[in-house]
Amino acid sequence: MDTVAWAVLAFVTLTDQSRKFNMLCPKCHSEFEQIVFAGIAIDRCTTCKGLWFDMLEKEDLLKIEGSEEIDLGPEQVDPKYAAMRDIECPRCAQTMLAMVDKDQYHIKFEACPVCYGTFFDAGEFQDLKEHTVLERFNQMMITISSKFK
Ligand SMILES: [Zn+2]
Ligand SMILES: [Zn+2]
Repeated sequence: MDTVAWAVLAFVTLTDQSRKFNMLCPKCHSEFEQIVFAGIAIDRCTTCKGLWFDMLEKEDLLKIEGSEEIDLGPEQVDPKYAAMRDIECPRCAQTMLAMVDKDQYHIKFEACPVCYGTFFDAGEFQDLKEHTVLERFNQMMITISSKFK
């Protein structure tokens, strides 16, 4: 391979890398900061505090105790961002689909049909987590009470 080809290859690799690290929030276009919880890296927007989960990260996090800490909550957040729809996936620029959580219809989030990443507004992950824990607790109570019958 000649020098030009190498240069092109290096350039392509570089731009690809920088795109990955400068992912911008699909709602307010601010930068994401990476936070690590239990070994899982999550991206959180520095302005609207929305959370970005790559495929299956959300499912893993929901199983871990205390993971709701990554969500800073709905307080101080401009409600206009929560109402925003038709946003583009920050990873692959695909128009994301508006989704509703299967157990909690009031929780709306965006999912990418290509990379399966999901975007949650601040407070929504906390809400989802709370319900998951409560549901598990109820399940436990049912199991316990059936043992004492
Ligand atoms: Zn944002
Ligand atoms: Zn995507």
